[in-house]
Amino acid sequence: MPRFHRPDGRINLPPAQRDVQRRCDEFNAAEREFVERLRPLASQLAAIRKQARALGLFVEDRELLACPHCGLHEDVAADGRLLTCRDGDAVADSGLRFKQVGGGKFRCPSCRRLVSVPAAKLVDNEPGNSGAERLPV
Ligand SMILES: [Zn+2]
Repeated sequence: MPRFHRPDGRINLPPAQRDVQRRCDEFNAAEREFVERLRPLASQLAAIRKQARALGLFVEDRELLACPHCGLHEDVAADGRLLTCRDGDAVADSGLRFKQVGGGKFRCPSCRRLVSVPAAKLVDNEPGNSGAERLPV
């Protein structure tokens, strides 16, 4: 079947291609509707995470930190609070908190060195994903 260009610039497609085009249009419309329904939920989730973080809860948006130099490491209490402990002292919260300085780096509140967020378990052994580095003075 020859293609026919319509005055509006569109092309009349053969029936099989028209059906594929209609399905693609339906899928794209459904996808747009889904994204529009998801957008406010994502905003609500971001606000809830921000509130939880402000309350001192760990929102699991990254791996827990551990400073390889001084042994201070993060842990999560049964009630979800983020805490830090020294090696061998897993119960008492030191009250110190790692401070994010950007780019996936945090400053250890104890020894002041930079600590990288550990990569996911699958890439733990990649070079450069663990350890701390000293800040330039
Ligand atoms: Zn440290």
